[in-house]
Amino acid sequence: MSFGSLGLCDELLKTVIEQGYKTPSPVQVAAIPAVLSQRDVMAVAQTGTGKTAGFTLPMVQLLFGGPSAKAQCVRALVITPTRELAAQVASSVQNYSRHLDISTAAAFGGVRIEPQINQLQAGLDVLVTTPGRLLDLYNQKAILFDQLEILVLDEADRMLDMGFIDDIRRIQTLLPSKRQTLMFSATFSTTIKLLAKGMLDNPLVLEVAATNNSIDTIKQVMHPVDKARKSEALIHLIKKNKWHQLLVFSGTKHGADSLVLQLEKAGVSAVSIHANRTQHARTAALDGFRNGNIMALVATDVASRGIDVNQLPCVVNFDLPYVAEDYVHRIGRTGRAGNSGLAVSLYSDDESKRLTAIEHLVGRKFKLEIIPGFAPSLKAPTNSSEDDEYGNFEADPKPRHKGQSQGRGRRGGR
Ligand code: AMP
Repeated sequence: MSFGSLGLCDELLKTVIEQGYKTPSPVQVAAIPAVLSQRDVMAVAQTGTGKTAGFTLPMVQLLFGGPSAKAQCVRALVITPTRELAAQVASSVQNYSRHLDISTAAAFGGVRIEPQINQLQAGLDVLVTTPGRLLDLYNQKAILFDQLEILVLDEADRMLDMGFIDDIRRIQTLLPSKRQTLMFSATFSTTIKLLAKGMLDNPLVLEVAATNNSIDTIKQVMHPVDKARKSEALIHLIKKNKWHQLLVFSGTKHGADSLVLQLEKAGVSAVSIHANRTQHARTAALDGFRNGNIMALVATDVASRGIDVNQLPCVVNFDLPYVAEDYVHRIGRTGRAGNSGLAVSLYSDDESKRLTAIEHLVGRKFKLEIIPGFAPSLKAPTNSSEDDEYGNFEADPKPRHKGQSQGRGRRGGR
């Protein structure tokens, strides 16, 4: 399958070539013609599957050539759960529409609303926004929906997890009922189905990416380490393996800040990103990480949503996540869109319940691989081979869950 057969116009075909995309990803193959046909679409697709281009390319094609937006009007709204994702999707829309005359802006909280109000004054083709800031703009009479043609709900499951359901319902009441609606979600849980039923009109349901293929291309390593030696072990791994760009997940904001201090002390440039940091600090952290000035970005789960850095080589679970599904979200940041990646987890014996939950979710049992010089003081149940630090984990001969194929990132309904 080629991009050329999906119905995209020449300008967009030129863009995908410039992006270096050779073949469309499965979600793109399914979503692009569906969106171009102007049907409502419910797509089950995780971050890292190419879903942003999957909805953006056909969306900008539909908008292009249509009547231009009148003052304060938006023709397409993309709603995302987090500020970072909004900023990133807006920059993707700008990027993908570079050969078309399409105006795009992002509006999210944590920064002044006035510049966003000013941007809306002349009208916009695409506004990428978070639910709260969109309602603020509406309440301040800065935005009109009379000309709305397309609504995209990105990461709808996350929006529900983060408690945005009331905001979404309220937003729905403000929008014209005659519109095209596209909903993307990593899961197809009962609550998502209910939300889709209320918002979409006879949608095409695309489940091509119900499982995250990219997880199969990720090498996953589990190192048992004493909790008190995790920072030291991480610094050792960074130096020994010459990692130059890594996203590190910490279970707490405080843990993230203290790890940054220790990494910096060891000469590893690092910065944290979590809810207590200002929007400005978060954006600066992401920029520094993207442009290579920062080697390690230490993030909490909520702040990490939507971080997209092309071909992120390595993700580290400094703490195992409390929620097993977050393991799949976290490691999905590496090995994106078919590129191989590495996910390294530091496991301390107080995390055994979390490890078991992750093993159940991914349907495999990890081999615990001791880092030479960092054997945990309590004997961990390991059959490690110390010289094979990055060998693959053992496959459990029998998947533990019926219906969960090995190594797939299927997330349970929440
Ligand atoms: P997304 O799932 O939208 O967050 O996209 C994940 C990553 O895949 C982004 O870095 C995109 O630039 C990249 N990407 C999207 N479509 C393709 C494609 N067809 N081929 C290669 N990379 C792609």
